[in-house]
Amino acid sequence: MADLRELYQEVIFDHSKRPRNFHPIVDASRKAQGFNPLCGDKLTVYLKLNGDLIEDVSFEGCGCAISTASASLMTETLKGKSVQEVQHLFEAFHHAVTDDHASAHDELGKLQVLCGVREFPARVKCATLAWHTLQAALREKQGTVSTE
Ligand code: ZN
Repeated sequence: MADLRELYQEVIFDHSKRPRNFHPIVDASRKAQGFNPLCGDKLTVYLKLNGDLIEDVSFEGCGCAISTASASLMTETLKGKSVQEVQHLFEAFHHAVTDDHASAHDELGKLQVLCGVREFPARVKCATLAWHTLQAALREKQGTVSTE
């Protein structure tokens, strides 16, 4: 399993150094800000919805490697998905990063690289910040979400 862990760390490192979809969407239909005071991670998630479909999703902000990589992987995963699929993935992802007994979640694909954070409870908030912010954007909540 050591090799797998190394591979996961490489993916996280890559996404934190070169985050994908790291830009605002000018004609976004929704956006929300997220803040994790525990670590200082701050990000804005932009969403472009086409009916029930995520036509485009992006983010910008500054945070630690985990929060940046997680937001990057999230935006990469969610493009083209329906809002229902997004909810399902959010639940699966949340479960995977918080529950020690979680079994393999094949549907998570690349997101699985973040499952290791469950060994570091303080980092779970970094990994889920982008997702909570996305939820806020979907619910059209104004203002800033805090993980606290
Ligand atoms: Zn963080």
